Amino acid sequence: MKKFINRPEDVVEEMLQGLVVLHPGSVRLLGHKALVRADAERVRDQQVAILSGGGSGHEPAHAGYIGAGMLSAAVLGEVFTSPSSDSIFAAIQAVSGKPGALLVVKNYTGDRLNFGLAVEMARAQGISVEMVVVDDDVALRGTGLATGARGLAGTVFIHKLVGAAAAAGKSVADVLATGKAAVESLATMGVSFSAGTSPAVGKPSFELGEREMELGLGIHGEPGVRRTDLQPADGLTETLLTEILEHGKFGDEKRVAVMVNNLGAATEMELAIVARHAIPFFESKGFTVERIYAGTFLSSLDMTGISISVLGVNDEWLGWLDAPTTAPAWPNALKQRPGKPEAQIVAAVSTQASSPTGKDAQSEAGRKAKRAIVAACKALIDAEGELTELDRVTGDGDLGTNMERAARAVQDAAGSYPLDDVPATLKALGHTLRRELGGSSGPLYGVLFLRCGSVLANSGGTGLEQWVEALDQGCRAISELGGAKLGDRTMLDALDPFVKALKKGAGGKSSREAVLAAVEAAERGVAATAQMKPRLGRSSYLGDRVLGHPDPGAKAISVWLRAASEALFSS
Ligand code: ADP
Ligand code: MG
Repeated sequence: MKKFINRPEDVVEEMLQGLVVLHPGSVRLLGHKALVRADAERVRDQQVAILSGGGSGHEPAHAGYIGAGMLSAAVLGEVFTSPSSDSIFAAIQAVSGKPGALLVVKNYTGDRLNFGLAVEMARAQGISVEMVVVDDDVALRGTGLATGARGLAGTVFIHKLVGAAAAAGKSVADVLATGKAAVESLATMGVSFSAGTSPAVGKPSFELGEREMELGLGIHGEPGVRRTDLQPADGLTETLLTEILEHGKFGDEKRVAVMVNNLGAATEMELAIVARHAIPFFESKGFTVERIYAGTFLSSLDMTGISISVLGVNDEWLGWLDAPTTAPAWPNALKQRPGKPEAQIVAAVSTQASSPTGKDAQSEAGRKAKRAIVAACKALIDAEGELTELDRVTGDGDLGTNMERAARAVQDAAGSYPLDDVPATLKALGHTLRRELGGSSGPLYGVLFLRCGSVLANSGGTGLEQWVEALDQGCRAISELGGAKLGDRTMLDALDPFVKALKKGAGGKSSREAVLAAVEAAERGVAATAQMKPRLGRSSYLGDRVLGHPDPGAKAISVWLRAASEALFSS
């Protein structure tokens, strides 16, 4: 187990100490694992107090929802363990005044018992307390389970609604009625790719195979109702939403608020992908999505999973979702309907350098250029796996797929290059690569071919000597832009030997021999990079760890150089 903790038995206490530092609006209740609004004393007679809580491990629930407009207090147990009735009772006493209090409790036996007992204790003291139990999990609906459905991330919607209603001055009876009605129109279902690890246990609460996922799981590491094969995000989103819509009741208006919740270790990227697909799905079922939220609302330690909660809304409830709160974990910014996926603006700049001709090559030079380009692209596509592996070992692993994608883009664009004008074709190639290649290589290939094309155009010929000068200048452009010198373990260590060998061979033997000898020099250059220390690019962070492996950028150069050179002299 790797965690940023000290001793497993101290995690909740130390988290509490951290939370009051991070959230100055909350203070500790002396002698208890509970946090209360720092201004509780001032507001206790002005509004119904809202309390919630439960086991720890669900952060930011519930302490993150303390603040004006949401919770007055959160009572924390140990990880996945219900808090004691003593602490709950103490918290009720600390924050409740004449208007009374409402407890929002997730439906788990331990929580029901401890919170229920605390309600009894508070009532015995004359405090007017009510309790609403949230059972939004649809996974277990219809299974006839006596304990009923579990409380999941939808609980946070209830916090927000009753918190806003209480802040608006509603009576405890009204707030309770709102809470109960909202629970009726709330449904949640989760899915997970791997379980979380409790600090006390030290290993995941369940194990899943490489290609498996767990549908309809609980937030305390209890396995789900169905273990199935992994599914792409869109299908998975539909699976969850189909279950939710089948079992939930969202009102005749068919207006909903949606929460895409990170159960711990999902990424914002994945949440956005799910949110993106949820909207058209709801629309296809005749629902209007009034609000969609994505983030970590109620987690389950470091579980790699998400849940989706759907709440049927009306104008009043929408107003309460939108009402401001000082609770740090509620996304205050979002007070509008979801954006449109097609929303975009068009940049007013044109980067098209040469006008496409759309003509096929007419001249011998044009046909050669085309053959070389086509062969270079094919070779790069074929080398995808090898380049990926090299860049994975010495960099970030994207070079193979970037090269492959760029090669396909060049294949598509080549038909519109002015092939009979070789310098112009080089520039067009530079622009395609600049746009399509990405990474560090994109701009470097961009300057290489732009500079080459410009120098060749100005030299007034396309003989071997002019090519040598153009390529030499191209290498210089790479150095100027990226700061690399020979021996820095970059693509220059393949390109430069090629140019030097070409220079030596020019004027001698046949140009075919000169070019092929230069390709071999490039390949020797690639091999030599395996012993070079990286000074630039991503590999430089790895230092000596890359020794023994050739530089992927240099390798890519030799791959397309050989293919293009051989194609030039084939007929
Ligand atoms: P990254 O993923 O690091 O942004 P790429 O995967 O596109 O970059 O390309 C990595 C290759 O780029 C390296 O193997 C190296 O040959 C080349 N490279 C990185 N930095 C430079 C530089 N400053 N000058 C020349 N080539 C460089
Ligand atoms: Mg890379």
